[in-house]
Amino acid sequence: MGKRALVVIDVQKDFVPGGALAVPEGDEVVGVINELMDDYDTIVLTQDWHPADDPSFVEQGGPWPPHCIQGTEGAELHPDLAADKADHIVKAAVNDKTSGTDLVEFLKNSNVEEVTMTGLALDYCVRETALSLADAGFKVKVHLPATRAVSEDTARKAIADFQESGIEPTGALEEAIPKPSQS
Ligand code: ZN
Repeated sequence: MGKRALVVIDVQKDFVPGGALAVPEGDEVVGVINELMDDYDTIVLTQDWHPADDPSFVEQGGPWPPHCIQGTEGAELHPDLAADKADHIVKAAVNDKTSGTDLVEFLKNSNVEEVTMTGLALDYCVRETALSLADAGFKVKVHLPATRAVSEDTARKAIADFQESGIEPTGALEEAIPKPSQS
């Protein structure tokens, strides 16, 4: 029987409120993910991991403010994430965490057939990595309550891309999209 893996994308200090590139409510995925961990055979975490002069940062003409710089506090995993349960950690400075890493090889060597995607952000790294893993032949689910999106528009586009690629979103999209501010 093929195994089931939980893939936890970039739950790091810079991606939660107070961080350099915060995703709204990003910290709210932590408890949901910790609870899911016991239900899977294999757990893989990813960490966004940039050199200080990364070409994707604004100083070098890229789109992003500096974030998740290797060895800095912002690049650390969220302190409440149960990282001790991880079987494997992938450090990668790209949206697609399969690119240039051993993620696909690790999952195949672990006899994984089905992956459930969680983490940050739904409409960027979770999306890119889910699409690549579907391309690589895995059955892919995205558990929406364990993700948060940067914006509703891009979240809805990601869902459309998932459906086109045979990726199954589970749970309510409303839980993954930013709420109008209360103030
Ligand atoms: Zn990054």
